[in-house]
Amino acid sequence: MAPLVDTFGRLHDNLRISVTDRCNIRCFYCMPEDAKNFQPKPEILTFEEVERFVRVAVGLGVNKIRITGGEPLLRKDLPVLIAKINAIEGVRDIAMTTNGVLLSQHAQALYDAGLRRLNVHLDTLDRERFRQITRRDDFDRVIEGIELCRSLGFGPIKINAVAVKDLVEQDIVPLARFGRERGIEIRYIEFMPLDSQGLWDKSKVLLMDDMLAMLREQIGPLEAVPDQDPRAPATEFRFADGIGGVGFIASVSKPFCLNCNRIRLTADGHLRYCLFALEEMNVKTLIRNGASDEEIAELIRANVRAKWLGHEINTQKFVPPPRPMYAIGG
Ligand code: SF4
Repeated sequence: MAPLVDTFGRLHDNLRISVTDRCNIRCFYCMPEDAKNFQPKPEILTFEEVERFVRVAVGLGVNKIRITGGEPLLRKDLPVLIAKINAIEGVRDIAMTTNGVLLSQHAQALYDAGLRRLNVHLDTLDRERFRQITRRDDFDRVIEGIELCRSLGFGPIKINAVAVKDLVEQDIVPLARFGRERGIEIRYIEFMPLDSQGLWDKSKVLLMDDMLAMLREQIGPLEAVPDQDPRAPATEFRFADGIGGVGFIASVSKPFCLNCNRIRLTADGHLRYCLFALEEMNVKTLIRNGASDEEIAELIRANVRAKWLGHEINTQKFVPPPRPMYAIGG
């Protein structure tokens, strides 16, 4: 089977799968407090449908899978799906992004299902600011979940920290220290225009270079990691003293679209060639109308063929995607 290459020559082998649009916290830059209109259960792909889609995508060269949400651990029996995907020949890597609130409850089952790579979303180590950002009081549960996963042998464990300016500056260094003490990489994510309430503007983006300067000043020298995979979204640095590192997903100040290798499947079965895509293709209807594997494969190819060069955040043309982040998945 020909690999999934778009019209810009980019090879696509990384599939992100959102398994729910629901979440158990309410980060102000993602979901409104009174969020509703979640997809009803019948509209959500079943595990069997997801597994079939992954099997077809793997046949086209996809080998990296990331499970996302909303909050994926809200999906009942998620370890069952992870075990199914892990059993598909050709899947080389499976990871999950979670807010960590339910991690303690499911850690052992996830581990037994074969999951090892985790990204836990945590913007601050300050309980009050955690409450302010997430509008929930679950800070302790997140920390407990991280510590349990470390003890169970998950790895690499990374922390995804969304960096909103004039809010989390005082968290940048403490998070890095937390990571250095635990062998956890902190991934600082520049705030992106994906919120459902239109809160975003460029003045609220804490930039990678500003965070790097803080870390260098307050912790010590940082060096860029040599020979990084140009297709990976994060730019990685190591502390010169050899203790740990940090990464930056600088979508706004240093877009990395030219090497993008990702496509996304939403919980309600739509395929998106980009986080910011303004169009998507309906896999669910195709599958439920009895499509063959080849028809599903052709839809995936068509989606990649239609892929644009990249997001247009830094241009006048930028239009926010019609779906908010929680209905796309990270
Ligand atoms: S913004 Fe879109 S094209 Fe750019 S890296 Fe992200 S998913 Fe890829």
